[in-house]
Amino acid sequence: MKLPSLNTQILIGAIVGLVLGWSASVAELPMQDASLYVAGLVGTLFVDLLKMILIPLVFSSIAVGIANLSQHKQMNRVWVSTLLFFVSSMTLAIVLALLAGSYFKPGVGLHLALFERAMQNFTAKQMSVGEFFAQFLHGLFVNPFSALASGNILAVVMFALFLGVALVVGGERYINVRQLMQELLDITLRMVNWVMTLAPLGIAALLFKLAATQDLAVLQSLVKFVVVVIGTLLLHGVVILPLILYAFTKKSPLWFWRGARDALVTAFATSSSAATLPVTLRCVTQNLQVKSEIGGFVIPLGATINMDGTALYEGAAALFVANLVGIDLNLAQQLIIFMTAMLAAIGAPGIPSAGMVTMVMVLQSVGLPAEAVAILLPIDRLLDTVRTTVNVEGDMVGSLVVQKLVERS
Ligand code: ASP
Repeated sequence: MKLPSLNTQILIGAIVGLVLGWSASVAELPMQDASLYVAGLVGTLFVDLLKMILIPLVFSSIAVGIANLSQHKQMNRVWVSTLLFFVSSMTLAIVLALLAGSYFKPGVGLHLALFERAMQNFTAKQMSVGEFFAQFLHGLFVNPFSALASGNILAVVMFALFLGVALVVGGERYINVRQLMQELLDITLRMVNWVMTLAPLGIAALLFKLAATQDLAVLQSLVKFVVVVIGTLLLHGVVILPLILYAFTKKSPLWFWRGARDALVTAFATSSSAATLPVTLRCVTQNLQVKSEIGGFVIPLGATINMDGTALYEGAAALFVANLVGIDLNLAQQLIIFMTAMLAAIGAPGIPSAGMVTMVMVLQSVGLPAEAVAILLPIDRLLDTVRTTVNVEGDMVGSLVVQKLVERS
């Protein structure tokens, strides 16, 4: 019997995981604990495998990407259009969040007293915007061996950028290192293909666990906020980003989603843009016809700094907390939220719930209680799924748009 394509298997895995997990949460299934244990084991194993390949992949793909790009003398255009795209799409995302928050006002009428206990037991790490920025900048340049060993992606990206540029400047002299990097990239991509055969099972396990362990009571009390956030994220992911894609490349959303589906489902299941990166890179280069030198540059960089979903969430959550404590934010304060949300999204690493940590800074920037993060924590696993999916979608759309802009020149 011929198995369905991997793409279809992944989709089936996702649906089976969600349905079984949901059934387990409403009806006590026999061997509930055992099945949760097994699902946890399999899901974590899949994420571990992706993370294992991640660092060599990021390192080699950026170095090779730069080295190949500069041959065509297009480096400047790629740089500039990539950064411009990242900033513009995140700007749109935050503006959407602020508009939706001001219109629907989630949090108004909810009593903070309801959440007092959660907030009392939570101590937020205090950090001002200035400190956050300094720490971010400081974290960019790190001993590459320590960054590689500890999985510090941002620092690895930075070193790989330097290495790529040095390889270009050195030209023929460093031909061996360049070839070594190219082979390292080929080998890691081969390993990604192996890991992907486990994806249907891994994704089913992750989604089973997610659906089976949702706390429905907490969800109900915050339902308006959850609906507004997910609705705005969907608006950005299903309408705005595809419109941008169409405007620049004339590619249809259906074509895009078909090619991007594996990465989107993996992002949803893992809640980690970093863990999804190997799959994202595979999707854009194999299915979406992005040249490997463009994808190899835009995707790893995007996975670390371009986070539309997180930016949107930070803005929405700040307005929610303001409503909850009964503060009416004026335009200047909303502008501060806009800027800190952008910084928080750029600075958040692509791991689960990273946005929650940087959220503290956004709240503090306008004097909102950082402890309110405690209210958002119980629903974060759920919201993280959708915002990570939008983060990854933004990176993939970005690589297509940048490719088009470079071709035009
Ligand atoms: N989990 C998100 C990501 O990996 C970051 C966040 O917490 O918003 O993209």
